[in-house]
Amino acid sequence: MNEPAFLPFALPDFDEREVEAVAGVIRSGWLTTGPITREFESRFAEAVGSRFAVAVNSCTAALHLSLEGIGLQAGERVVTTPYTFAATAEVVEYFGATPVFVDVEPGSLNLNPERLEAALQGGARAIILVHFAGEPCDLLEISRLAKKYGVPVIEDAAHALPSKFLGETIGHHSTATCFSFYATKTLVTGEGGMLCTDDEALADRARVMSLHGITRDAWKRYTEAGSWFYEIDAPGFKYNMTDMAAALGLVQLEKLDVMWQRRKAIASAYDSAFSEIPELQIPHHDPRNQHAWHLYVLRLQLGRLSIDRAQFIEELKARRIGASVHFIPLHIHPYYRKKYGYSPTDFPVASEEYQRALSLPIYSKMNDGDIERVIHAVKDIVATHRR
Ligand SMILES: *Cc1c(COP(=O)(O)O)cnc(C)c1O
Repeated sequence: MNEPAFLPFALPDFDEREVEAVAGVIRSGWLTTGPITREFESRFAEAVGSRFAVAVNSCTAALHLSLEGIGLQAGERVVTTPYTFAATAEVVEYFGATPVFVDVEPGSLNLNPERLEAALQGGARAIILVHFAGEPCDLLEISRLAKKYGVPVIEDAAHALPSKFLGETIGHHSTATCFSFYATKTLVTGEGGMLCTDDEALADRARVMSLHGITRDAWKRYTEAGSWFYEIDAPGFKYNMTDMAAALGLVQLEKLDVMWQRRKAIASAYDSAFSEIPELQIPHHDPRNQHAWHLYVLRLQLGRLSIDRAQFIEELKARRIGASVHFIPLHIHPYYRKKYGYSPTDFPVASEEYQRALSLPIYSKMNDGDIERVIHAVKDIVATHRR
């Protein structure tokens, strides 16, 4: 029997429509920020219900511009979760400010609102929350506390497209909401991100700072409508999105719901296959919310298995299935450990859940056979290695 092809952990869902859209940009001769980017911004703002959307070249850039926009200063504190990707806290470090971690809830792996108030009492300039895997944070409780302490909320919504909190699309609840269009995310432009906000001044500032701090509509300076004259308001960054990326984004945005429906179907196939297996714990999902299903994070009951999580991933690999781990908590990494003197037990929920978390492939290009293969492999590994 032939060995099955390797099933990658993630793949973008592109077809000829994306190819044609990018080809059209190339043929037009206008490659970088231009009319296609502007159109993507307005369609995206409409899709998530925000007044403004500023397209940039990553979610990291969007997070950085959000903090710049609220005027974060060196020495200030920003409360966030340790259970996230590097980007969420590194943007705080850019300013010489301090990320203050708050441990996560064991179910959702989102920042635990019950622990938030103590951190805010220590003084904070902002809160950055992460909707882990696509399951929304408790925005009611978090925004109640944020208001009480007068602290703006920035959402790292890299996983949360399209998520809904109590029926409301993520993208307009907070001071700024930042999305990622990185190659593995739920809308792909290769590299890309979006800063969404209802605050016009913040949007304007982010737009200016995303392109060298040059006064309004810097991108137009090489068009007929533009002018050679420009002024620098502040030393900005080079974070603008290209029209090639935006062309991908426009097509992907049209497919967003169809792609989500498929991921949702995969999640429910996994849920029904794994929910009765005592060695496994399926992801938490509050039925009042819409989960984006960017990630499907299974947790292993390590006490019931004779192998650990790393070996489980090796077993999947041996069956030609890609898997991953989200996330190695930030406080465990050398930089944060050394700088702030953290030990893993400082945020015990994050540390312990990390040991047993395992992300399975979940993307709209997977066919029914792929889903069956993953289910079969996971069940087979459990059956072979149960204690
Ligand atoms: C992917 C990711 C980011 C960074 O997105 P980029 O577009 O690659 O900058 C930020 N936060 C989280 C939680 C992510 O998963």
